[in-house]
Amino acid sequence: MTRQRPLLLLTIAVFGAIALAFGPVAARQGSPADTRPPGTSYKAPAWTFNKITDGVYHAVGTGSLVVMSNATIIEGDRDVLVVDSQVSPGAAWALRDELKAITPKPIRWVVNSHYHFDHSHGNQIYGPDVEIIGHEFARQQILAGKSQDSPAREFYVGGVPAQIKGLEARLATASADKTKATIQNQLDIQRNHLESTNAVKPTPPTLTLTETMTLFRGGREIRILFLGRGHTAGDVVVYLPKERIVATGDLMVNGTSYMGDAFVPEWVDTIEAMKKLDLGTVLPGHGAAFTDMAKLDHWQAYLRDFWSQAQRFHKAGTPWEDAARQVDLRGNAVHFPGIRTVGLTPNHGMRRAYEILDGKVK
Ligand SMILES: [Zn+2]
Repeated sequence: MTRQRPLLLLTIAVFGAIALAFGPVAARQGSPADTRPPGTSYKAPAWTFNKITDGVYHAVGTGSLVVMSNATIIEGDRDVLVVDSQVSPGAAWALRDELKAITPKPIRWVVNSHYHFDHSHGNQIYGPDVEIIGHEFARQQILAGKSQDSPAREFYVGGVPAQIKGLEARLATASADKTKATIQNQLDIQRNHLESTNAVKPTPPTLTLTETMTLFRGGREIRILFLGRGHTAGDVVVYLPKERIVATGDLMVNGTSYMGDAFVPEWVDTIEAMKKLDLGTVLPGHGAAFTDMAKLDHWQAYLRDFWSQAQRFHKAGTPWEDAARQVDLRGNAVHFPGIRTVGLTPNHGMRRAYEILDGKVK
């Protein structure tokens, strides 16, 4: 069940340079760097920048704009590296705009922790002076259209037009001013979200890695590490060894993570590899930053529990849809209070487990 990892093979492809030399292989499409993208008529701030240590911030959305994932901000001596570009050009634009109040240094590096829509669909706002770093797999997936056409995106964003219609209907019949104002506010947020996600032009990393890459920016050492397959086949973490901080994307979130593109047994091993880093603080792709490393054990326990139940259902010939309804993860609820009932929502994780057990995913 453990995949063999190539031994520290440093394979970095500089696609940005290739694009410059040979034409628009990976040319950045979309908004010029300073043009306000659609879906950004909102009440600032969209972001809260939680200071972790000097020059390192965990940026979390306030809700005034839908951003759907956190960002990590790492200042170097001359420039800034940002982990993840959120769900839309609007969300990423707001981050860059509001970051100006924190530091005058320009963003020069963006890391996509993985290819999912809510971590990479703001890439297009970054101009040619910004390198977008990601795992080779993330680049391939985005180029193949997999960030855009995915069950995950459909589940989390596909319902927005219907939600807008519902809010419009409620607004038409609401009478109290306070209720009207609340609905209008929700409507504005969802309309911005729809406009902004409709403007997405999936844009792949310009600089890829398969194992490790390290940036030295003044006194700051920034390691970008592939620790093994997990949430997807190509998640990277951004690790600051001196500060003992790691930005984990969706490999390790504060809560339960989506399993629809996962390699569940390998994910347990990958978290084990993460535990070997000298860590003080985890900055997850979703949820609040944390310092309690027992959360890594709890996530491994959840994955193991899910996998052993999935194997049992599969062996018994239970259809995956039924298995997703019946899987009982409540034993983990003490560490994941979001688990209140039997079943897995979205059910994509169970479908994925069956694909692996059927040998359809290698
Ligand atoms: Zn994800």
